[in-house]
Amino acid sequence: MVRRVAIVGAGVSGLAAIRCCREDGLEPTCFERSEDIGGLWHYTEHAEEGRASIYRTVFTNSCKEMMCYHDFPFPDDHPNYMHNSKLHEYIWKYAEHFDLLRHIRFKTLVTKIKKSPNFSVMGQWEVVTEKEGKEETEIFDAVMICSGHHVYPNLPIADFPGIQKFKGRYFHSREYKEPEKFRGKKVLVVGLGNSGSDIAVELSTVASQVYLSSRSGSWVMSRVWEHGYPWDMVIVTRFRTWLGNILPRALSDWLYVRSMSWPFKHENFGLMPVNRTVRKEPVFNDDLPSRIACGVVKVKPNVKEFRETSVLFQDGTVQEDVDVVIFATGYSYAYPFMEDESIIKSRNNEVTLYKGIIPPQLEKPTMAVIGLVQSFGSIIPTSELQCRWAVKVFQGLCRLPTISKMMDDIDEKAGKKLKWYGSSNTLQMDYITYMDELAVPLGVKPSLLKLLLTDPRLALEVFFGPCTPYQFRLTGPGKWSGARTAILTQWDRTLGATRTRVAPATPQTFPILAMLKVLFLPLLLVAVLAALYW
Ligand code: FAD
Ligand code: NAP
Repeated sequence: MVRRVAIVGAGVSGLAAIRCCREDGLEPTCFERSEDIGGLWHYTEHAEEGRASIYRTVFTNSCKEMMCYHDFPFPDDHPNYMHNSKLHEYIWKYAEHFDLLRHIRFKTLVTKIKKSPNFSVMGQWEVVTEKEGKEETEIFDAVMICSGHHVYPNLPIADFPGIQKFKGRYFHSREYKEPEKFRGKKVLVVGLGNSGSDIAVELSTVASQVYLSSRSGSWVMSRVWEHGYPWDMVIVTRFRTWLGNILPRALSDWLYVRSMSWPFKHENFGLMPVNRTVRKEPVFNDDLPSRIACGVVKVKPNVKEFRETSVLFQDGTVQEDVDVVIFATGYSYAYPFMEDESIIKSRNNEVTLYKGIIPPQLEKPTMAVIGLVQSFGSIIPTSELQCRWAVKVFQGLCRLPTISKMMDDIDEKAGKKLKWYGSSNTLQMDYITYMDELAVPLGVKPSLLKLLLTDPRLALEVFFGPCTPYQFRLTGPGKWSGARTAILTQWDRTLGATRTRVAPATPQTFPILAMLKVLFLPLLLVAVLAALYW
């Protein structure tokens, strides 16, 4: 029987793990190598070994209503998108509110996890830790790995001939903290992900010129989306997911491209993705188009070769006198504390996890990897639902299929991922589909039919409104009595954050137009559906 659970890391995933273990009567012990909680969101002046590192000005790209723990909304006065320090404050409030801190052993590094000799019978793990030079080994009934997935830089030097000859400075975006050091310099940022675009935009305020090199382009979205609403409140809805599932692929692709092109024509800014319909993670940057328009950021193709002081790009152009190169080329995953890493990376060094969480080949399902999947949704509610499910699996209350069925499921998901998201080493999923897959066996997926009959107002908000985390505590085990109110007031909190001055309302449509709308209602409906969906 599972009782004692070891949790590696006290970031947002590790805290969710502690909470869920406690909720289900397990005894969590969380090991955190640093002296603080929050993981990536605990900003430090220098990158620390083994822990994710952010730059000073990182703001969230998920809004507060979509990014909270299921039963712990952000304070009303929080902005919709937050500076990392504000999120860190919220994480502390969560840990204090649910009394999680007493389960954390700070400054304690997990150095080894291995199966105990009786693993095939009991499923137990030996966890070796190190604190102030002192080593300790303990036995746990289960392990939750919450050590983060944006820690180990992907620095693909082999893809960049000549970089050794380059006389300027080069480093990975993980080392970047703030722009001042680059005043007056010519900087090349390689990689059009969220790190690359944030850093390029920030540097463009001080550098003499910024070049942003992209090998395959990206869709660039704004946090402030249609009519000024947060992008994720508009896009991450059950209605859109349902439409996406029923529409033919060609139509769905057309709507997707149309929606992504809504703010500006990407080809005019050199940003258009090579494969326009692949749903790889977009870049969220409100300022990039305007920085390009002002000429302070110049978008370039992939680098062909580095020379001593210049850079040759794939299109044959050469940029002279480059002082600094920042490789914003993403991250790779590693679990250096696993004695046998192939438990997690079981095929060709690729992560193979059932539901993106459980290693399928284990004799006993007593290990869970939390926070690895990537989607349009935020990591906090995703990690929390993963933890709720994993704890039930540990306790035998959610039963797993046979190994071969789990492997089939993993392969099927990998095929779908390739089709919709292209090839990448991330476990990319559709947010709502994935959340529901975990919510169904837990008995916490809201029933729309039941809601329609008993609480139609709530049903409409659940289906057409944003799929906020509260939906997963509306019903079933772990139900939260505040969930209904939180859903029905989510727009008040969102608008309250920006309506900080009483302003006159937008004038009503001219009466004749209103009449025309009524006359052409069916046509209009089709157009609205098309405009809403991508
Ligand atoms: P982490 O935050 O990385 O925490 C892992 C913890 O484990 C750390 O505290 C670390 O010290 C500890 N640890 C690691 N190894 C050991 C060990 N061996 N022993 C003991 N302790 C250990 N996601 C969103 O949803 N929205 C966003 O807006 C967003 N913005 C992001 C911005 C940046 C710049 C980056 C890089 C990522 C962003 N992400 C965002 C994704 C991000 O990974 C998650 O938001 C989240 O921080 C992941 O939390 P985590 O707890 O899984 O991992
Ligand atoms: P990323 O999303 O993985 O982007 C890496 C970029 O590097 C991609 O453009 C990729 O190009 C390019 N690249 C990788 N290998 C390359 C190679 N060999 N040659 C040329 N180009 C290469 O990494 P990231 O931007 O660091 O983001 C990591 C995570 O943190 C993401 O989930 C992101 O959302 C999050 N993040 C969030 C924020 C925020 O909230 N403000 C800020 C930063 C990061 P291809 O597209 O062609 O592969």
